Amino acid sequence: MGVFGEFLKGLKVTGGVMLRTISGRELVTTRYPQEMREKPQRFHGRHVLNRYPDGMEKCIGCQLCAGVCPADCIYVRGKDNDPDNPVSPGERYGYVYEVNMLRCIFCGLCVEACPTEAITMTHLFEMSTTNRQDAIYTRETLLMDERGRVPHVFPNDPLADLSELDAADGWLKATAPAGVAAYEGFVMWRETPGPGDWSPEPSQEERDRRSETEDG
Ligand code: SF4
Ligand code: SF4
Repeated sequence: MGVFGEFLKGLKVTGGVMLRTISGRELVTTRYPQEMREKPQRFHGRHVLNRYPDGMEKCIGCQLCAGVCPADCIYVRGKDNDPDNPVSPGERYGYVYEVNMLRCIFCGLCVEACPTEAITMTHLFEMSTTNRQDAIYTRETLLMDERGRVPHVFPNDPLADLSELDAADGWLKATAPAGVAAYEGFVMWRETPGPGDWSPEPSQEERDRRSETEDG
């Protein structure tokens, strides 16, 4: 086949793909940012700092997340709670909390390490910035509001899809060992009830009682 034949062959392939795409049979792209693709539950997006249903912050400032982070991108400083006006149920809370998103590799190890499930990951992924400072997420950007909603990094951006936030809350935990011996080694996935739709967490007494029942 000569050069012209090769040219026609190429045109035929291109035309075929074009027709299949226009007819929608092979459409793999969406009209982003107008249309968002549904993301898998295991998607590792930007972090959020969670609260308990009563509004207390879950972070106790223990720095385990910072210690385990392979990219060394978390900075935490804990502070003693004021007994008359505590921020968290523990002795301390994380009064400085920063994640450098330019360094984060979204491995989720911080989520694994956190003893109180204070830090989790959402499905939000729009994080491009025009300067390095904005890529360092502070406590204000990371901490969910009292309804369980995640703050958007750029709420005034006309292209920001704020509806994405309705599906984003801090309850997605990547892999959650249940703490029960029978589940050791299992990977578990927690459903996310959505912002503002939280059933009360069991008390410590209730957890102890359930644990005793499970242990037989
Ligand atoms: S996801 Fe991984 S790299 Fe990112 S902050 Fe957590 S531990 Fe560090
Ligand atoms: S997010 Fe979790 S691991 Fe990190 S300091 Fe707070 S309580 Fe500790």
